Parts: sequence; C-alpha cells; structure tokens
Amino acid sequence: METEEFRRYGKEMVDYICNYLETIKNRRVTPMVSPGWLKDEIPTEAPFHPEPFDDIMKDVENKIMPGVTHWQHPQFHAYFPSGNSYPSILGDMLSDAIGCIGFSWAASPSCTELETIVLDWLGKAIGLPDEFLTIPSRYRGKIEDEQNQHKDTDIPNNIDVTKSSGGGVLQGSASECVFVCMLAARAQAIKRLKKIHPFVEEGVLLSKLMAYCSREAHSCVEKGAMMAFVKLRILEPDEKNSLRGITVRQVMEQDEAMGLIPFFVSTTLGTTSCCSFDNLLEIGLVCKQFPAIWLHVDAAYAGSAFICPEFRQLLNGIEYADSINLNPNKWLLTNFDCSAMWVRDRLKLTSALVVDPLYLQHGHEGAIDYRHWGVPLSRRFRSLKLWFVLRNYGISGLQKYIRKQCQLAKKFESLVRADKNFEIANDVKLGLVCFRIKNDLSNKLNKKLLECINDSGKLHMVPAMVHDKFVIRFCVVAQHATEADIEYAWKVIKELSAEITCTEKE
Ligand code: PLP
Repeated sequence: METEEFRRYGKEMVDYICNYLETIKNRRVTPMVSPGWLKDEIPTEAPFHPEPFDDIMKDVENKIMPGVTHWQHPQFHAYFPSGNSYPSILGDMLSDAIGCIGFSWAASPSCTELETIVLDWLGKAIGLPDEFLTIPSRYRGKIEDEQNQHKDTDIPNNIDVTKSSGGGVLQGSASECVFVCMLAARAQAIKRLKKIHPFVEEGVLLSKLMAYCSREAHSCVEKGAMMAFVKLRILEPDEKNSLRGITVRQVMEQDEAMGLIPFFVSTTLGTTSCCSFDNLLEIGLVCKQFPAIWLHVDAAYAGSAFICPEFRQLLNGIEYADSINLNPNKWLLTNFDCSAMWVRDRLKLTSALVVDPLYLQHGHEGAIDYRHWGVPLSRRFRSLKLWFVLRNYGISGLQKYIRKQCQLAKKFESLVRADKNFEIANDVKLGLVCFRIKNDLSNKLNKKLLECINDSGKLHMVPAMVHDKFVIRFCVVAQHATEADIEYAWKVIKELSAEITCTEKE
C-alpha cells in the first residue's frame, strides 16, 4: 500500500470505527455462531495475488463482524471492562506507526523514558507511596521547578533513575505482573537461603518455598506458581470474601513448623468473582513478622478506582507491599494491552530477570532497560496510548468516568434490592454487582436465567460462585453507559426471569 492509499483508507477506517462504535447498540451483543463457523467463510489459503482494500473491508463487515462479541456494547456486562477510548486508539495507532521495539533505553529512548514518566504520573494519581516511583514526587516538583525557572534548588545530585529504588513498568497482562513478581520473590528467597545454607542445593531450597493467596485470587496466581515451580497454599477468606491477617499468620506458622519457607503472598484488591478486598493492612503487618516475604497486590480491575480519593482507603496497607499491578486496559479507558506494575525495589525485580548479551548492550550507564523487568525481550510503545489518555481526559475526566460507573452499579443494585424475588450477593463497592434469584437452593433457576440472558443476544453476563452459590455478575462496562441502559438491562432480566418461573411452575 502506498502512502496516498494509506491516507485514503486510513480516513475510511476512522469513519468505519466511528460508525461501528456509534451504532454498536443496533448489533446483537453476542454473536450467533458455532465453533468452526469461520472456516466456511474464509478461503483455506492466503491469496497469492494482492486483493483490493475495499474487498477486505467488505469481508470485515460480512464475515468478521458476525462472529464478534461486542465488548464495547452498552449491554455487555460480562467479565470486567475492556478499556477503550478514542485518544487511546489514536495513541496506539501512532505507536504502531513508530513501530519501535523498546527493549532497551538505546533501542528507543522516548519509549523507555515516557513509560517511566507515565508510570510515575499514574502511581502518584492513585496515591502510591513515593517508594514505588522512579523519581519520587518530593523531588519531581523541584526538578521541574529547576528546569522551568533555571534556578538552583536543594535537589540532591543523586536524584536520577539510577539512585531511586522503586519504579513502574507496563506489562502485557496482570498475569505477567503476578508471575514476574513471583519469580523475583523466588530469586530473593533462594539468594537469602543460600547465604544461610551454602551447601544445600538450590533445588532443595526451592522445594521448601511456599506462596499464599486467597481462594478468591485470580487463577493467574495458581498458574504463576505452577510455572515458577513453587507450592501455593490457597487460603479461605472470611464471610466477606476478604483474606485476613490471622489466616495468613496461622498457616505460615504451621508451614514454618513443618520446615517450609513462606516467601510470597499475593493479595487481591477487587477480586474477579465479586470484587471483594483482602485485608492488606492486616496481611502486611503479618508479613513483616516473617523473614523477607514478598507481598504482592493484584488490583487488576479495582486499582483504577484509586484515582478517586474517596476509594483510596481500599488501598490501606500498601505501605507494606513490595509490588502492585493494575490494568488501565480494564478500567482506565486504555486499550489492551496495558498492565501497569510498580515495585518498591526494582533491583530485586531485575536481578531475577537479567541476561545481557553483547548485541543488546549500550554505553548508557544507569539508564533503564525494560527488557530486564519482564519476560519478553521485545516491547511495544505502550505508554504512548496511556499518555494520550491521561492528558486528553485529565485526572478529573478519569475520576468522572469511574464515579459514573460506580453510580450506575449502585443504581442496578437498588433495582435488584427493590425486587423481593432477587438478592444481592456481594458488597457493591465499585462497578460490579453479583445478584441471583432468591431461594434457589439447587441454583437451577439462576443457571437457566443466565442461559436465557445470553441466548437473548440482548445482554451478556457471566457467572461466578460466591459463598458456594451460583451468582450472575453484572458489571458496568461501556464507557458511555447511561441510567437508561441499566434500566433496560433490569427490564430484560425481569422479563426473562418471569418466563422461567412460569415454565418451572407448569
Ligand atoms: N487479576 C484479577 C483480579 C483479574 O480480575 C484478572 C482478570 O480479570 C486478572 C488478574 C488477569 O488479568 P490479565 O488478563 O491481564 O492477565
């Protein structure tokens, strides 16, 4: 494709995107296709001769769109939101055009440095302690002052990225964040134990390591432990689905008594099933009483809410954590992939992940090389889209968005509560409401209701088990969701549940 064609089709693509998003409501939220359907629509081999762009776009509408689940649809209430906004799309488009592979500072200095700066911006905006920032805020103001006003300040001359201990990075997913933190914790633990038992083999030490999480933690913790080859103890949360300090303490003491070595605790702020919050403060205090436990906080969904000061008490205890992740690509209007992670001590992270062949080295001592902060070598210019979002909405715009979504969840909760046939199954703190038909001991009615909801094509939701009960998760997802969308969803749910209850009685 030549530049002039790109200019033309690029504009047409923007029009297509705008029309798609503006008229998305007219489509079924979930597709009506069965596995394997696409192979009947698309040739079995790639075309040998070039095809006109117009033909490709026709197939997008006629062949691809029929199999798309529309995550940006106002009646999509499944999972958690998939972040999306125009500034983010435009930022990613530019990132694609620049097309750099930012594995080291030298591979594209702006790619590295913007990531560091944007992660500091976001870290500050959600109220992370200074230790998690690359350039702590107490110095950043002074540095900016100095640059702006060209006057001397009392900035210690060691304030550069080589001297601060923490920092942020963008990973591809929350699962990767949890995994790399677990790897770092494992490396730290083995290093510490090797000093105490220099003649014991690393494999033996590894077999003693114990990681911990709640039953409500995301399955990525279990997967991470499997890949890191460490044992994971899955603990029972309390009646509010919150993991408590006492539970963690008792189990870690029992493990120590058996000769095992606790090394990693993964807590969740905003669990996937019901958006419950582990008691980070209690768990943090417990971890401090054991030698060198790495405390991780997975706030993949809920973390974005901390941009609003009124939700920040949910982050209490962060002062004890070693690392935290949140996904702007879930709830901060930023397109996938964009998973933010901060560590208190970046050397502890990178020392588990550094390999340094000659062809990747450069002479810029002390600059950040993000390839040492994660699994892949190649990295996209992901910070660009987040920078566009933070600048174009401003913190105030993002706060407005989060608050609106929480208010809509409260609206849905009140509609459910007002109906004597239904009950709410979670403590609705943010944008997720778990509800169910009452007195359905076998869960049969609720399963049927969810099936009908999804078959209708009018709404899309997914289930969860909360306190051993089957519940339907209703998440406020669409960026521009309105009260009318919530009322519509409740109307459809009530109609379908009435039909089910009638059929059951017959
Ligand atoms: N952690 C929590 C709390 C989640 O809710 C999810 C996904 O919804 C994940 C981790 C996994 O996220 P990712 O798909 O970014 O790996």
